[in-house]
Amino acid sequence: MSEQIPYKIYLSENEMPTAWYNLRADMKNKPAPLLNPGTGKPMTFDDLRPVFCDELVRQELDNDTPYIEIPAEIRDFYRMYRPSPLVRAYCLEKKLGTPAKIYYKFEGNNTSGSHKLNSAIAQAYYAKQQGLQGVTTETGAGQWGTALSMACAYLGLDCKVYMVKCSYEQKPFRREVMRTYGASVTPSPSNTTNVGRKILEKDPNTTGSLGCAISEAVEVATTTPGYRYVLGSVLNQVLLHQSVIGLEAKAALDKYGVKPDIIIGCAGGGSNLGGLIAPFMGQKLRGEEDYRIIAVEPASCPSFTRGRFAYDFCDTGMVCPLAKMYTLGSGFIPSANHAGGLRYHGMSSTLSQLYHDGLMEARAVEQTSVFEAAEYFARVEGILPAPESSHAIRAAIDEALKCKETGEEKTILFGLTGTGYFDLYAYESYNNGTMTDTIPTDEQLQKSFATLPNIG
Ligand SMILES: *Cc1c(COP(=O)(O)O)cnc(C)c1O
Repeated sequence: MSEQIPYKIYLSENEMPTAWYNLRADMKNKPAPLLNPGTGKPMTFDDLRPVFCDELVRQELDNDTPYIEIPAEIRDFYRMYRPSPLVRAYCLEKKLGTPAKIYYKFEGNNTSGSHKLNSAIAQAYYAKQQGLQGVTTETGAGQWGTALSMACAYLGLDCKVYMVKCSYEQKPFRREVMRTYGASVTPSPSNTTNVGRKILEKDPNTTGSLGCAISEAVEVATTTPGYRYVLGSVLNQVLLHQSVIGLEAKAALDKYGVKPDIIIGCAGGGSNLGGLIAPFMGQKLRGEEDYRIIAVEPASCPSFTRGRFAYDFCDTGMVCPLAKMYTLGSGFIPSANHAGGLRYHGMSSTLSQLYHDGLMEARAVEQTSVFEAAEYFARVEGILPAPESSHAIRAAIDEALKCKETGEEKTILFGLTGTGYFDLYAYESYNNGTMTDTIPTDEQLQKSFATLPNIG
């Protein structure tokens, strides 16, 4: 049977999903609602309207509709770079000498280099539909900002990006890709916003964080007519859009009658993992099938494995709604880990609830072991992986090696979220042997937990 499975399983264009799948519809314990920081009450449609465009607010609050149609214009855009390939990692299996069967869904086949374009085009589309002039956002490593710039350029929307300062300085190339697509890029914290000035006053040498940049982008969106804020991860709506990854992966596996035993993804804010697992978790929630699902996070920013399940601010400036999630505290600023996309203090409320209910596992891995896996994978499978994606590679290799010990022929599916061409300083530090692992101490985490708001 396995001989018949090609190296790459492609769907044809007319096999692509026409609706996103909303995992929340099948959850018995729904993710906790966003709370208004002023009143402590759940955020309503009207509370959220000044921040997000209307249709996205509807999607954010919709815990019941299982399938939401993908508008035709978004499906046309998807056709430029989707369906993405599902690869059978024959070369990796052989090199490892494992009886495991390994598949990965590769989302790096577009200029932005990651899965983030799947949600960027959706969010930009709804903003355009509403007749808005532009959107604001933050970006950490730059993947989200790049994806959003591409989507905005395609639709003719203005795009203002607040980029975490250390990335702005360390990753000039991503900045220039964004500017090429017409976005304006400001290093954060900046003195263009009240919240940025406040943060700089307290700590003039801060290298910034996603939490700071979010505060700035939200402030600009809510104070500039014709603008709304968009976010590349964490939110329910982003997981919804990213379900296209899992729907395609499942359709491709179904073609060959393959059922994964283990599904693995890296977790920053949870969007790629939430998208990859969506249809599989749906089956699990409905009691139709069982899967082992593993979230992999950096040991330097271990929201799932060492965080608290509590209401917290989504941003450092505490202007955003409160979300119930696994969090390290909104004031937590992780060490300058190279996987910029995994440096967020919190985690999607949907995944947090699933993890809390024992429906998935999580593990934290150290940076140097992640780059070992990245290098191994690049040499065997050819693709130069993003550091974020390499967290999933690490776990997939570890699971495949366990199968080698036990002789079990498990089928492993993992998400290869992007390419690492813009992360070569990280590879340089690994190649030079100067990369280190920085893990927060319990004392550091306790200090950060102490600032959690006292709610539910
Ligand atoms: C942003 C990013 C991630 C992490 O974000 P999630 O929302 O957790 O998916 C992972 N991989 C790549 C390549 C990214 O750009």
